[in-house]
Amino acid sequence: MNALLDNVGLALGCLAAGVAVAPTLRASSIAIGHGVLRPMLRRRLEAASRGSLVLTYDDGPSSSMQTRLLELLRARRAHATFYLLESRAEGQSAWIEELERDGHEIATHSFGHLDAFRVAPRTAVADFRNGLAVVQSAKRHVTRFRPPCGRVTVQTYLAVRKAQLAFDLWTHDSGDTFATCPSVDAIVRAVEASGGGVVLLHSHDRGRNRPDAEAHTLAVTSALLDLAERRGLAVRRMCDLTA
Ligand SMILES: [Zn+2]
Repeated sequence: MNALLDNVGLALGCLAAGVAVAPTLRASSIAIGHGVLRPMLRRRLEAASRGSLVLTYDDGPSSSMQTRLLELLRARRAHATFYLLESRAEGQSAWIEELERDGHEIATHSFGHLDAFRVAPRTAVADFRNGLAVVQSAKRHVTRFRPPCGRVTVQTYLAVRKAQLAFDLWTHDSGDTFATCPSVDAIVRAVEASGGGVVLLHSHDRGRNRPDAEAHTLAVTSALLDLAERRGLAVRRMCDLTA
């Protein structure tokens, strides 16, 4: 950890000065992102979400899955935050308007879902900015970004903050992208033990490939809303947490 902290100033200084990032510095940037920024962001989110349930859905918009999810959220009078993948959002204004009409918060999740640990830092930053360009050209307003796969690097973090967006992670993973979905009860127990939290789920269509994963997303959503009722957790969007 000390080595990571020693590199923070060096990485930030070089980035601020526009100095080319050497491979070792790039590795440090990933290490700092993962080892320092990520735990810091996570701790803040745990504190901010205590007493609340925040349902968040990545990788949409979509047609079939979104329709099923919105029916469920409407029936439960619950609002959520949707981090849209802009390559899917492009040209799908009707799907996005449906989310907004229902009172959900719209945020961005990059253009092409590039994993910042697998591409050059500037490529991941460009993916964030390309996503934001789609948002702006559609005249949508977003104030939040969630990085694909939750990958935090110094470069992406600074670019997101420079664009005056919040950089969001989550406190609990529903496991709806795992090869085998965990039990719904295990997720509910974990959120209950934490006294609330920000839960990662997904709203894109997976169709015939993963009907179990879509069913899991819906089952976790429903079970967590039951928990919120039972334990008196306020169901909030991300923007309500920071407001
Ligand atoms: Zn994603």
